[in-house]
Amino acid sequence: MRITSLGVNSAFATGKYEVVVSSEKIEAFLQSIKENIGSRESPLALLKEFEEFFAKNKIIRYNPKWQSNFLIEFDCPNKRDGHFPYRLVLDFGGDVRHSLKAFGLTVNDIDGYYVSHPHADHIGGVEAMALSTFFNPFYTKAKAKWLDNEFIADKIVNQKGEFRYKVPDFAKPDLYGHKDVLRELWQAAMPGLKTLQGVREVTLETYFNVISLIPNQAFTFQDGDRTWEIYTMLAVHIVSGDDIMPSYGLILESENKTILMPTDTQIMTPPQLKTHYKRATVIYQDCETSPFPSGVHPHINDLRKVSSEYKKKMLLYHYDDEPQIEEGEFLGVLKMGESREY
Ligand SMILES: [Zn+2]
Repeated sequence: MRITSLGVNSAFATGKYEVVVSSEKIEAFLQSIKENIGSRESPLALLKEFEEFFAKNKIIRYNPKWQSNFLIEFDCPNKRDGHFPYRLVLDFGGDVRHSLKAFGLTVNDIDGYYVSHPHADHIGGVEAMALSTFFNPFYTKAKAKWLDNEFIADKIVNQKGEFRYKVPDFAKPDLYGHKDVLRELWQAAMPGLKTLQGVREVTLETYFNVISLIPNQAFTFQDGDRTWEIYTMLAVHIVSGDDIMPSYGLILESENKTILMPTDTQIMTPPQLKTHYKRATVIYQDCETSPFPSGVHPHINDLRKVSSEYKKKMLLYHYDDEPQIEEGEFLGVLKMGESREY
């Protein structure tokens, strides 16, 4: 199994725009100057050439800070064409299609999604995911065969009996999540997804093969010759008066490894979660660095006070500016694109 950080930043972090000229163009320009070094009438003429070169070749480049979403790859056949790996995306924020692009992937390369909680940096990409796979007749080989060149809206309306308005599971991405989160996900996405031209009875199941998890229910993935058992873990993200927003993180277990991905959560809240932190081999740890702490994520200053028994297993992410840590204090600070094999 390989876990890659599609993004590592918080919902509020923004990237930077820079004006740049490519190094290839600069090198070619300098070479042309060298070749004709004595041909200018005056230094002012040379200066003018420089100005024209920069005006013509400058581009605006975006250095992104993508939201915290992960790509989990299992060494097993995918849904799309049966090749390896199966790609599961843990949370899909509004910018996940751009962060996937950075890895040469699109929504159509993703087999399944897991959703932890209904904040926009975790579910904001749902409409793009749903519609772009729904309208792609080649999303899976089996879908292309099932459609047989018929437009999908016509196909599902023209089907007879109990299959009318239904899209078969092999023709759409898997969507895993706690039943409460999936209900809220549909509430959030419904205004954009409930209407399909010419189709009645549109639900979340129209777009996804929904696997609604009940408490303590594991789902498993084959990964080469090992099996990963994956459980959800309820942690407290936000408490407001008498209402609570949990985040359902993941515990991934195989043989002697336990990977803990609590997602957005205050540190070991409730304290009973300590058991899971103790058992974990590696902990993907939410870490806020904002000068204006939100109180709903652990701040780096709070994490520094945690016992080193846990700190040494923690990979920090979900920050605004990168946290500055002492050598050996934590397992590390995750960077965008960083991959780890387990
Ligand atoms: Zn959140």
